[in-house]
Amino acid sequence: MLNYQEIKKTDPEMYEVLMNEVNRQEDNLELIASENMVSAAVLEAAGSVLTNKYAEGYPYRFSRKTGELKYRLNGRYYGGCEYIDEAEKLAIERAKKIFGAEHANVQPHSGSQANMAAYFAVAKPGDTILSLKLSHGGHLTHGHPISFSGKLFNIINYGVDKKTEVFDYDKIREKAIEHKPKIILTGASAYPREIDFKKFRKIADEVGAVFIVDMAHIAGLIAAGLHMNPVPYADIVTTTTHKTLRGARGGMILCKENYAKDVDKWVFPGVQGGPLEHIIASKAVAFKEAMSPEFNEYQKQIVKNAKALAQGLLERGFNLVANGTDTHLMMINLGEKGSGNPSGKKMEKALDKAGITANKNTVPFDTRKPFVASGIRLGTPAVTTRGMKEKEMEQIAEFILQVKNNIENDEKLVEIKKDVVKLTKQFPFYAYLR
Ligand SMILES: *Cc1c(COP(=O)(O)O)cnc(C)c1O
Repeated sequence: MLNYQEIKKTDPEMYEVLMNEVNRQEDNLELIASENMVSAAVLEAAGSVLTNKYAEGYPYRFSRKTGELKYRLNGRYYGGCEYIDEAEKLAIERAKKIFGAEHANVQPHSGSQANMAAYFAVAKPGDTILSLKLSHGGHLTHGHPISFSGKLFNIINYGVDKKTEVFDYDKIREKAIEHKPKIILTGASAYPREIDFKKFRKIADEVGAVFIVDMAHIAGLIAAGLHMNPVPYADIVTTTTHKTLRGARGGMILCKENYAKDVDKWVFPGVQGGPLEHIIASKAVAFKEAMSPEFNEYQKQIVKNAKALAQGLLERGFNLVANGTDTHLMMINLGEKGSGNPSGKKMEKALDKAGITANKNTVPFDTRKPFVASGIRLGTPAVTTRGMKEKEMEQIAEFILQVKNNIENDEKLVEIKKDVVKLTKQFPFYAYLR
């Protein structure tokens, strides 16, 4: 099935695009911290006939008398949902079990839509949200002016400490006391150190705020017990399912029982229409994988690899934000504008030429514009999925140094790419798609 032979017949143009992308993923070193490579089982579910089904609503109802959630067939606005209901139920129950959550909504199409529904479930436009600044590791949907979040809510940002580049919880507390936010939000796309959710909970309690955690990047680490779990502390937890968690591209919301109805109402009909049930089934398959001992080993190796890569880079004279990592990701700080060092943009392009995929990223207190940026964000989830270990991380650190030293030399970058392909060839992953 999964060899694209039908597409080859009916749409050769698209077949060529798909094969080019398969080859790119096979040959390149994927170091984008938010990406991963899913299993054949996850791909099969995502490509299944469940895509044909409309299933607005939920596979359960809340009892009018007790408020209790009961799985039953009449939760949907469409007929024929008896099997779809089972698929969504599997996803919900597995998600609750993995993270110890009271309630799970697996319908958000993406992390951004999960966040939108979560904010609306507890706040009104104009309310204040205290969140992490984008340039200090936050996400666009945490209140950036170009996102719905920044347009609809009054956003106050906290950042990292200038010297240590980690959270200063006393400063965050002071801001919370000063601004009395409706929501305190944490979670990050580019923060390499562990976040203390317990401390955030205390601050939220002190000022009477709802506490929301966006664990998109670290969900896999949390599932394996390698990072503090926010679920016991937060009122609502949002996440993506496709980053370290290694599932289909999508979102999810976990929450305490007393927020369940409002969260559900805001996912559908508040923000979305028909759920992507093929993707929900695919999430369920990924959750099943995440409950296995192999997955725990995999997550441990992600962190070991990140530490090895960080060490390799530090030894080669690179500066890292917060001087290293506790997680799956790290940020190279290439240095200030005018320092003679390349920008993140330039480095990203050179890495690309050498077959290494990563993204430029602002560093805290960046002196360059976001589209140029002074940082490169690196993550180990995808290369770890392929089976790479500490030894290969050492080799990757050396590739990155060679790229920086030869940033203007296209010929040399092509040479490096040959070595990169030699390495990736030893760790085939999607050979069955070629
Ligand atoms: C990736 C990410 C998101 C957004 O996810 P999308 O699925 O791309 O919408 C939200 N929050 C954080 C912290 C993220 O890292």
